Amino acid sequence: MSLGVRGRLFVVSVALILVVGLTSGAYLENQLRRLLMARIETELHRHALTARELFRSLNDWSTPATIDPLADRLSQAASARVTVIAQNGTVLGDSALTVEQVRQLDNHGSRPEVVAALASGRGVARRFSATLRTDMLYVAVPLARGDALAVVRAATPLDEIEPVVNQLRVLLGVAGLLGLAIAVFMSGLASHFLSRTLRSLVERASAMAAGARQQRIAVATTDEIGGLAGSLNRMAEDLEQAVTTLATERDRFAAVLEGLADAILALDAEQRIILVNRAALTLLDLTEPPLGRTLLETIRVPVLQDLVAQAQDGTPSTTEFDLPTATTRRVLASVTPQQLTGSSVIVLHDVTELRRLETIRRDFVTNVSHELRTPVSVIRANAETLLLSPLEDAAETREFLEALLRQADRLARIVADLLELAQIEAEQYQLHLEPVLIAPAVQRALEVVDQDRKAKGLSVDLAVPPGLSAQADADALDQIILNLLDNAVKYMLADGHLAIRGSVEPGHVRIEVADDGPGIAPHNRDRIFERFYRVDTGRSRHEGGTGLGLAIVKHLVLAMHGEVGVEAATPRGSIFWVTLPLPT
Ligand code: ADP
Repeated sequence: MSLGVRGRLFVVSVALILVVGLTSGAYLENQLRRLLMARIETELHRHALTARELFRSLNDWSTPATIDPLADRLSQAASARVTVIAQNGTVLGDSALTVEQVRQLDNHGSRPEVVAALASGRGVARRFSATLRTDMLYVAVPLARGDALAVVRAATPLDEIEPVVNQLRVLLGVAGLLGLAIAVFMSGLASHFLSRTLRSLVERASAMAAGARQQRIAVATTDEIGGLAGSLNRMAEDLEQAVTTLATERDRFAAVLEGLADAILALDAEQRIILVNRAALTLLDLTEPPLGRTLLETIRVPVLQDLVAQAQDGTPSTTEFDLPTATTRRVLASVTPQQLTGSSVIVLHDVTELRRLETIRRDFVTNVSHELRTPVSVIRANAETLLLSPLEDAAETREFLEALLRQADRLARIVADLLELAQIEAEQYQLHLEPVLIAPAVQRALEVVDQDRKAKGLSVDLAVPPGLSAQADADALDQIILNLLDNAVKYMLADGHLAIRGSVEPGHVRIEVADDGPGIAPHNRDRIFERFYRVDTGRSRHEGGTGLGLAIVKHLVLAMHGEVGVEAATPRGSIFWVTLPLPT
């Protein structure tokens, strides 16, 4: 059973009153008894002394017949029992008994009060009197008469003490009941006020706990309740401050998390996802955060599962794998365990681009070495041949030397193209962007390829408006058009038809070089802009191509904020197109 504040206060005050009432009652009763005894004893002593004086004046001491009647008279006057006992213990007179009865009494010499009176001049004893069948107080004094020695004893029953004590008990009982009633009333009143204050305190504190963080308790008093209210207010302030700090920290953490380019997933001890950032949603092709789902449900990659299990042993670990999403991504995953909670944090770093670039670099090195190997080995072989056994035949020697020169030229072209590409990529190629007329640039390029074009019997259809210009670098534009024209002439079949067109489209200028040559299969259309990528390697080499021309075109166009591409022409051939910004 649980008592409220009111009930507890009541019980405490009643208990207090009972304890105080009972202990003080017991103490008072004891004191009263002692006081009454002391008074009775003093009175008896006085009676005994008075009786001694009277007995001393008696002439005949020999027989109770003379002493007993005097004892009776004295007893009546003093309302106490008076007894005279000879030194040998013989009772000589007793106010409570007749002379006859006195003669038959037993020896009183061993009574404690008699012994004490004879020894020290005063004897007091309390005991149950077998003669009178009641509790008695005896006070004895010695009586000397000549050589004879006797004891005069006064006694009174103690039954008069009890009524007085009972009276006191009644008084105390009434006072106790009165106190109890007052205590009940006062404690009720106090607990009413106290519980009202406490109730309002509890209500406010509950409101504060429920979220009304701005609310404060009015501190009306300086007592414990006032102190409690003050403490609650301080606690609420501290709490509010802590909540604000935590919220700021959380927001900062969320901002950092959301701002991270890496995907972050936090798992609980059961490997359920408890937190993901935006980068993770993007990487995993998810629209909703997969909170509460298991890792395996979300990312079906057993190797990642193994990694997390391995991390539970406390070792942070990493691994790389392909994510089975719509566009396969290569990711580097690292798992950091939180040993205290058994949870773990997974960081997924998208390395697709990095790995692609690594592959390109590796391929590039392979391609460059491959491209350089042929001319270098031809030059070396020819030079060795000429050096070791000079040829007799001048024509043959010339052939060797011409081949040597051709390969040296080829080497020089490759190196020059590579250098140029590297310069464009490193943004060291100084582009001076300005409005440049297209038609003259086309004209200049046509002149360069004129000889080869005519040799192949190719016709040209020129449709570039004379005033058409683009925001470009003049040299770069020359090189772009020349590369495209050069390719067209190189790969077109004899008597083919070549068309160069220029036009203005919304937001840019478009230049097209169309041929009716062999064309380019769709799967090769993107790749021919890569370094060293050729559709037909033998033919390209034969034509003196380096495999770098279109890569240079692409980089130059991009550097000038344009675009480049190739599409199929009808009925056959290819259309290489370039867009460039309009002049500003
Ligand atoms: P290359 O020095 O080999 O010509 P490019 O980078 O200029 O190198 O061209 C890459 C490849 O694209 C060529 O090897 C060729 O196979 C193909 N190509 C370029 N232009 C044409 C075209 N007009 N018609 C057909 N194929 C072409």
